[in-house]
Amino acid sequence: MSDQQYELTIGWLYPKLMSTYGDRGNVICIERRSQWRGYDVKVLPLDQSATVTDIRSVDVIVGGGAQDRQQEIVMRDLQGAKAEAIREKIENGTPGVFTCGSPQLLGHYYEPAFGQRIEGLGILDLVSVHPGENVRRCIGNLVIEVTATRLARDLEEMTGSKPYLIGFENHGGRTKLGKVEALGRVAYGLGNNGEDGTEGAFYQNAIATYSHGPLLPKNPFVADWLIQTALRLKYQQPITLSSLDDPLAIQAREAMFKRLKVNVPTLVQ
Ligand code: GLN
Repeated sequence: MSDQQYELTIGWLYPKLMSTYGDRGNVICIERRSQWRGYDVKVLPLDQSATVTDIRSVDVIVGGGAQDRQQEIVMRDLQGAKAEAIREKIENGTPGVFTCGSPQLLGHYYEPAFGQRIEGLGILDLVSVHPGENVRRCIGNLVIEVTATRLARDLEEMTGSKPYLIGFENHGGRTKLGKVEALGRVAYGLGNNGEDGTEGAFYQNAIATYSHGPLLPKNPFVADWLIQTALRLKYQQPITLSSLDDPLAIQAREAMFKRLKVNVPTLVQ
């Protein structure tokens, strides 16, 4: 099968309620990088009107950040068969990128600064708690060294360099991981909780992170990993993506690492 015949459906979780700090850029990045390779791409909003069949039909999932109130609205909708369908997708290896408020909802629970605990889907073994309105939010640039074993290996294989991700965090909630593997180690910024040096989580093929950025345009090789993983799962073939020219993204990464004085062994190209 030639490149042109691949079809990819991006499932976008609650676009109107969950897309803070440019997280929509992650959807656009996957869409464009697929189109530039000639694939046929569809973006399917997975919101209140989505059916279980819709959820089952997607090849890659994007979930953005949200304010506490919006997270509550989402979780009131994401119950029963819809919750099960998301769980099945993630457990079966559908790749996805989940930012900030999304991983909080994929974990066991999120306790906002005000109001009731919001029960999550419990797919990721983690809990998130907002320590109160008087405690400083975690805001600023974020650099992550990917340490999740399989993902780090795949990204290194794709790029020839040790994978470092650059992004931006803005969250009140602090996340503690249970048995789930961290996405990486904080090289700059605060990450999951500002204490244990962990950032995000990696489970099956789900990337959970506090990094907005948006993450994918700043780290296009992660978008390619998501696309490649989605296509391999869908077509059951060892598909390898053709490479794209990313001079601006590379320059932007170099500039940020320099500005933040983060020593990256070899720059990811
Ligand atoms: N409401 C969550 C928090 O403050 C998530 C914020 C976000 O997604 N940007 O921790």
